[in-house]
Amino acid sequence: MVNYKDLGLVNTKDMFAKAVKGGYAVPAFNFNNMEQLQAIIMAAAETKSPVILQVSKGARNYANQTLLRYMAEGAVEYAKELGWAKPQICLHLDHGDSFELCKSCVDMGFSSVMIDGSSLPYDENVALTKKVCEYAHQHGVTVEGELGVLAGVEDEVQAEESHYTKPEEVIDFTSKTGVDSLAISIGTSHGAYKFKPEQCTRDPKTGKLVPPPLAFDVLAEIEKKLPGFPIVLHGSSSVPQDEVDTINKFGGKLPDAVGIPEEQLRQAAKSAVCKINIDSDSRLAMTAAIRQTFAEKPGEFDPRKYLGPARDNMKKMYMHKIINVLGSNGKAE
Ligand SMILES: [Zn+2]
Repeated sequence: MVNYKDLGLVNTKDMFAKAVKGGYAVPAFNFNNMEQLQAIIMAAAETKSPVILQVSKGARNYANQTLLRYMAEGAVEYAKELGWAKPQICLHLDHGDSFELCKSCVDMGFSSVMIDGSSLPYDENVALTKKVCEYAHQHGVTVEGELGVLAGVEDEVQAEESHYTKPEEVIDFTSKTGVDSLAISIGTSHGAYKFKPEQCTRDPKTGKLVPPPLAFDVLAEIEKKLPGFPIVLHGSSSVPQDEVDTINKFGGKLPDAVGIPEEQLRQAAKSAVCKINIDSDSRLAMTAAIRQTFAEKPGEFDPRKYLGPARDNMKKMYMHKIINVLGSNGKAE
């Protein structure tokens, strides 16, 4: 049994209280490998932004849960070396699907867990989420629950179509379960193909797909029911066109990839939305840089020579999100 506090990590309690009050959102970035983690920590340390490191099921299968936990512990020390005296870093389980998994993460030093019972019948979601909260809270670990279903594919989490969160359920769910934050569905979606072309319109000038807007009316209704309660948005990558273009230019094939426009995320961050999950954009930034290096320097075979530029490109993307979209820079001095 290791407590997250001994690892220098923080839970989401203060982070979210400050973010809701301050009208910004904390970035939640997924990581699977060292370069990605370095890029996240460099960006957070340089901008003094609180940050949530997320471990998904796919990441646990790929990189091992124990190794990722120790990497996060190392990340705290690394952040201090970079001159961030009091790093505000949370280690969070993304899409936990059982009590046992959430318990194992609490026991190994995670400071926050998500229990995703959103695909279960309502009463079962309540019972499972409550059970996780009761255990996690004994150890000071915060819990994220979910109501509503997001479309798209994220590692092993996938759904054909989305169902918006029902505002009439949120008071009952949060009071019965004791969750610290609530992930909702208002039209964001997992993956780099968030919408089918037939769900979008086309910009007549560029021919690019324009996705349907987020359901801000549903968000407003939820906020009215739960004033000041921390709300989470999953599937909030923007799928930057320049990264997609670079990938396609250098041999990739990502036709009609489409994400959530940053302007809408900026608007969400000013509301009670205080955690915004971004994964696909990091994958795209990494892939674009690697493809470009391979194409321009075909003689290169030292992984540091293509993973290095990939790391730089990810860091640039993370800094952009922190400063220009979420507004979390300078909030963890
Ligand atoms: Zn998600």
